[in-house]
Amino acid sequence: MNNNKHKILIIEDELNICNFVKTILETNDYQVVTARNGAEGKTIGFSHNPDLIVLDLGLPDIDGCNLIQIFREKVGTPIIVLSARTNESDKVKALDLGANDYITKPFGTNELLARVRATLRNNRFAGIGDRQLRKKFTVQDMSIEYELRRVMIGKTEIKLTQTEYNILELLSVHAGRVLTYSEIIKKIWGYSDSGSIKKLQVNMANIRKKFGERPGEYRYILNELGIGYRMNAESEKEEQ
Ligand code: CA
Repeated sequence: MNNNKHKILIIEDELNICNFVKTILETNDYQVVTARNGAEGKTIGFSHNPDLIVLDLGLPDIDGCNLIQIFREKVGTPIIVLSARTNESDKVKALDLGANDYITKPFGTNELLARVRATLRNNRFAGIGDRQLRKKFTVQDMSIEYELRRVMIGKTEIKLTQTEYNILELLSVHAGRVLTYSEIIKKIWGYSDSGSIKKLQVNMANIRKKFGERPGEYRYILNELGIGYRMNAESEKEEQ
């Protein structure tokens, strides 16, 4: 049975946090290996072939962002960054270097587990193409039928422009995970200029309007201020 467990590497120099994360993950049936500095993390990351790496950005020996680069040059192992920093630019940098998601300290059990599940699930679909695996995405009362490019809320079809649909589909394929502005812009428009973020925000505002969402009550797509957007993950029941 143990062979089926996902193996997660925690790279974190603060013993309290390392043990906190380890305990939560082990309690939830993940196999855990730990490293207390960047050099050890690098060695274990390459030798143990983990399914996921939880990486603290503030390590004593190697900058966490450098470690992301080192891993990304060789392996596609998903990385969730732990950041005590409130500076959005550090998180954006980590994400743009190839981290899959981030969690800001302090964080709770549910948040950690939700991020871990979403990241493992996203990665399982990565490369194969989520649309080939799944024809439909559902979160709460909203659904996307990929082949028909049809979006429904309840029984009402929502008419989106090509661009609006493409943004929605992109976010849904990575549901549960934050996508940075530049990541979305590159995938939707293929290039980025000074007006791109504004263009993205205008499209997002139109999507929200068509969804009947008002500021502060976003049910489907969350704003990650200064970073990007995150589609709510499908409910646990539907995930299985
Ligand atoms: Ca630290």
